[in-house]
Amino acid sequence: MIRPAELIERKRNGEELSAGEISELILGYARGEIPDYQLAAWCMAVYFRGLNGAETYALTDAMIRSGTTLDLGAALGRRVVDKHSTGGVGDKTSIAVGPIVAACGVPVGKMSGRGLGHTGGTLDKLESIPGFDVELSTDAFVAQVREVGLAIVGQTGDLVPADKQLYGLRDVTATVDIVPLIASSIMSKKIAGGADAIVLDVKVGDGAFMKTLDDARVLAETMLELGRRADREVVCLLTDMEQPLGAAVGNALEIAEARRTVCGEGPADFTELVLDACAHMLALSDLGVDVEQGRARAEAAVANGSALERYERWIRAQGGDPEPGALPTAPVAREVRAPRGGYVTRLGAIGVGQAALELGAGRRTKDDSIDHAVGVVCHAKRGDLVKEGDVLAGVRARSEEAATVGVAHVLSAYAIGDVEPRPRPLLLDVVS
Ligand code: URA
Repeated sequence: MIRPAELIERKRNGEELSAGEISELILGYARGEIPDYQLAAWCMAVYFRGLNGAETYALTDAMIRSGTTLDLGAALGRRVVDKHSTGGVGDKTSIAVGPIVAACGVPVGKMSGRGLGHTGGTLDKLESIPGFDVELSTDAFVAQVREVGLAIVGQTGDLVPADKQLYGLRDVTATVDIVPLIASSIMSKKIAGGADAIVLDVKVGDGAFMKTLDDARVLAETMLELGRRADREVVCLLTDMEQPLGAAVGNALEIAEARRTVCGEGPADFTELVLDACAHMLALSDLGVDVEQGRARAEAAVANGSALERYERWIRAQGGDPEPGALPTAPVAREVRAPRGGYVTRLGAIGVGQAALELGAGRRTKDDSIDHAVGVVCHAKRGDLVKEGDVLAGVRARSEEAATVGVAHVLSAYAIGDVEPRPRPLLLDVVS
C-alpha cells in the first residue's frame, strides 16, 4: 500500500516513481480514497519536476483503467479515426470536420468536452442548437455512428473518470498547462474511446496552453510516444492560436460558421484547417488514400453538397434543428470600429476569448450557465489593411451595458500599425 505523502515528497525531490506507485495513486484518487489536496500537491510537484516517458505512460494507463473502455472499431467492424484539439479560441473544427469526413465514408464517433475559461468546448457549442442532445447512452452512440456515420457526445458512461476528477482539480490549482498532464489527459480519453488512429490539433500561441512552437513540439512528441506505446497511430498538426480561428467566437455564432464552412462558404483560414484535418483523418482511415487524395475527397464532399446533407442528418439524429435560422440570436449588436488606418498587426486570441467570456459565452466555474447567443465576430484579422472607422468586429450581447464592455475588450485585442506584419501560416508543422 502506497503512502501518498511519500510519493508527493519523492516527486517534489525529482525522483522517478514506478508504474505501480502511479497506478495506485491515480486509482486510489478515482475511488475517493486519496483526497483532492494530496493529488493537487502531487500535480504541483509534477508541474515543477515533470514526468519521464515511462511515468507519463503509467499515468495515462492508470487513467484508462479508472473506468470502462469502448471498442468502437469492433462494434462497427471498421478502423476508427478520431481527432482532438488541445483547445483554443473560435475552435469549432470538429463540428465541420465530422460531417465532411462522414460524407467521405469514414465513420466518426467523437467524445468532446465543455469549455472552461477563455477556451470554448464543442459540447457547449452544439447545445446552442435547439433540441440537440449531447448525452447519448453508449448503445445509442454506437448505433448512431453505425446508421448516420457521425455522433458527437459528452464522455459516455464511466470512461476515464479519473481524468474528469483530475482535470477539475488541475483547473483550480494552476496545474493545467503542463505537458505530461495534458498529454495523458487527452490520450487516455482517445485510447479509452477506442480510436485506432488520432489526428491531434496542437494549438500554439497566446490563446493556447502551449505558448511557443518549441513547447508545442514537446507536447506533440509526448502524445506521439503515448500513441506508440498504446499501438495507436497519431499525427499532430501544430496550428496557430495567436489569433482566433475563423471569425466567430461564441457558441451559436460558431455553429453558424461551421455550417457555412461545410457548405464551402466559411472563412479562408478556418476552411483551410478543416480541410487539412479532414485530409489527415482520411489518410489514417481504411479508405486507402494518402493526404493529397484525402484532401481532394474532402473538397469534393463540400462542393457536391454531401457534407451539408450529412451535417443535417447528424444534427436531426441528435434531436436538433439544423436550420441556421433556429439558432438563438442576441438582442444587442454593436460594431467595433478601427480607431485609425493601417495594418492589423495583432488580434490577440486570449483578448477575444476573454471578451466572449465577459459577454457570457463561457463559464468561469464549472457550474456557471452559458449564454449561447452572445459572442464576437472578428471581421478583420492579422495582416488586413483597414481605414479609420472600418468595422473590425461585431459584438453580440445580452444588454447595452454588456455590449459597451465587450466592445472595449475587443478593441484592446486589436493592434493597428503602419508596417504590414509578416504572414504567419495557420498550419505551422505536421509531426508523426
Ligand atoms: N484538453 C484536455 O482534454 N485535457 C487537458 O489537460 C488539456 C486540454
